[in-house]
Amino acid sequence: MSRWPAGSQSGLREANAAKIIDTIKRFGGLTQVELAEATGLSAATVSAIVKDLSLSGMVETHPTSRSGRRAQLVTIARRTGVVGAVHVGNRSMRVRLSDVNQTSLAERSMPLAADHAEDTVLDRIALLIVDMLGMIAAEAEDLIGVCIAVPVPVDPATGHVALRGIMRRWEGEPLAEVMSRRLACPVFVEKDANLAALAESVRGAARDVAESVFVRASHSTSAGIMINRRIHRGHDGAAGEIGHVQVDPAGAICRCGQRGCLDTVAGADAILEPLRATYGQLSFRDVIVQAAAGDPGCARVIADAASAIGTVVAGLGRAISPAVVSVGGELTEAGPIFMVPFTNALRAHTPAGLHSFQDPVSSAFGTDAELVGATIMVLQSTDSTSLLEERA
Ligand SMILES: [Zn+2]
Repeated sequence: MSRWPAGSQSGLREANAAKIIDTIKRFGGLTQVELAEATGLSAATVSAIVKDLSLSGMVETHPTSRSGRRAQLVTIARRTGVVGAVHVGNRSMRVRLSDVNQTSLAERSMPLAADHAEDTVLDRIALLIVDMLGMIAAEAEDLIGVCIAVPVPVDPATGHVALRGIMRRWEGEPLAEVMSRRLACPVFVEKDANLAALAESVRGAARDVAESVFVRASHSTSAGIMINRRIHRGHDGAAGEIGHVQVDPAGAICRCGQRGCLDTVAGADAILEPLRATYGQLSFRDVIVQAAAGDPGCARVIADAASAIGTVVAGLGRAISPAVVSVGGELTEAGPIFMVPFTNALRAHTPAGLHSFQDPVSSAFGTDAELVGATIMVLQSTDSTSLLEERA
C-alpha cells in the first residue's frame, strides 16, 4: 500500500482493480469470496471494485453455486478481447481462440503433411485465425495477442529458431515479427515444451512449486524448465533440449549433426524402425494406439524409449533439482506402458535421498497443455492496467 502516495484513493483503487483482473486472468472465473482469498483484499473492497468494473463493462457476473450455496461468478467481459493460441505439431496444427477468462470460444485443427513446408504454415495460421474470428463474430481488432507453440527452441534475443537442422525453412526468420505484421497484434513464438511447462506451473501439476520441469515425449523429446516460476530458456533459447543429449557414443547421426542423441534412440524414427520388418509401414500414431491396446511389439519399443528418456531426465533433474516433473506429449498416451519404465529409469538413475522429483506425474492438461500455456503466455504479456485505461 505504501507504493501509493497518501490520499491517492484513485491510484489505490486502480491498483486493486488491476489485481482483481490479473487474478481472474490467471485462474479464470472466480466468486467474490474466492477473489478476496486470492488477492488478500477485503470482501467489501472486492465487492466495490467488482461493482465498478461491472458498471464500466470490464467484468460480468453470472449466478453460480459453491458448496451448495448461491454465489456470483465474476468473469472478464468477453468484449475485452480474444486470445489466439496455436500449436504447430509434427503432423497437425491446432488453433484455439479464447476469451480473457481462458474459456475456449472456437477451436480448429488441421493435419500437416509429414514433409510440410514450414513457410506455408504461417500463412495457414493467419488465414485460419481470421476465419475463426468470423465464426465467433469477432473482428481482427479484438485480437489482443497470439502465441504460437512450435516443436523447436526459439532464441529469445533474435526470435529465430535456436537449433539448426530441425525446421530448416524457419531458420533466420523472425517468426513472431512476421506474424505480428500479418495479424496486427503482438505475436509470441515459443517452444511447445516451455508453454506446457508454463501451463503446469500456473494452473497444473506444478502450481504449488517454484522449480519444475515438463518433459514432452513425442516425435522428439524436449523439456520445459521453470525456475522461480519463470520459463528458463538459457542463453541461446535451447535450454531443456534433452533430445540432443548423447546417450550412445557409437549411435546414429542426429538431425542436429551430433552422434547418438536421445532422439536417435527414442525419437519417432527410432521407434518405427525396429517394427518395420514385422509390422510393415506403421505411423507413429498407430504404434501408440496399438501399444495401448496391448500389442507387445509396439509396447516394447515405447517402453525402451521411455527408459532412455527417463535416464536423461534423471540427469536433468540433478542439474535443476525440480520439485515436480510432469510429462506429456503423444508417447504418454500409451499410459502405463510409457509411465512405468520412464519412472523406473528416473528412479534408478537418481541417487537415493534425492527423492523430490522421482514421482513424475502426467500433465494436468493432457494434449491441451501447449494451448493452455500459449493462452497464459498472451495473458501474462498483456498489461491489465493498460486494458483498464483503454476501456475507461
Ligand atoms: Zn541431436
